[in-house]
Amino acid sequence: MTDAPIRLVAFDLDDTLAPSKSPLPDPVADLLRRLLARVPVCVISGGQYAQFRHQVLDRLELTPELAARLHLMPTCGTQYYRWDGTEFAQVYAETLTEAERDAALAALEEQARALGLWETQTWGPVLEDRGSQITFSALGQAAPVDAKAAWDPTGARKGALRDAVAVLLPDLEVRSGGSTSVDITRKGIDKAYGMRALVDLAGVPLAEMFFVGDRLDEGGNDRPVLDLGVRCHAVDGWEGTVAYLRDELLPLLDAQG
Ligand SMILES: [Mg+2]
Repeated sequence: MTDAPIRLVAFDLDDTLAPSKSPLPDPVADLLRRLLARVPVCVISGGQYAQFRHQVLDRLELTPELAARLHLMPTCGTQYYRWDGTEFAQVYAETLTEAERDAALAALEEQARALGLWETQTWGPVLEDRGSQITFSALGQAAPVDAKAAWDPTGARKGALRDAVAVLLPDLEVRSGGSTSVDITRKGIDKAYGMRALVDLAGVPLAEMFFVGDRLDEGGNDRPVLDLGVRCHAVDGWEGTVAYLRDELLPLLDAQG
């Protein structure tokens, strides 16, 4: 590689470091610790901080020295967490206004009911106020994977809900998220937004960052990072991340010195 040296490596979370909503597999945790010994690492995801705790922090068992190199960006970097010497603590969170959140929650429920998508059998809350993001999960946050997969196999149902709600909220970004979800955020918030913020927060230029994600395809939720001009590597799942870190990226960083 003839490009600038790599001074920071950022990762998507779901289906890149771990199966969706699941804890990091042992080989991933081991390789992340080895990576953190060499460079700062960022994890950026549309999910909220509780997911980072459950999926990443509870599995990593970091020394304070390694923890100090880890940057956490839930909800695409509208929230930012760092090690404060004792624990991971929120540095900032950019929240929607109360009026924006109320309008988003009302529009989601109204339109879901109108479209016949307001389910009666659910697992946990359907509507969730994450402060910087409002999320609709048709079957609830804790729905089993099988039920979620069967709910909208073509994506047509959440697409219809997204379109209906977007018309009502022209000043907000309305996106289809995971298999049964629709997310509402401020406009212009995607992983590129978080990576740009990271330039100042970590003091590393985009040219010296590297990103690994499973959805770098056109329309994928990692794609904005590639479009931003950050060097990227696409994986199909955490097994691909393990192979890439072990066989290519760690050796490259060792050679780079
Ligand atoms: Mg992913």
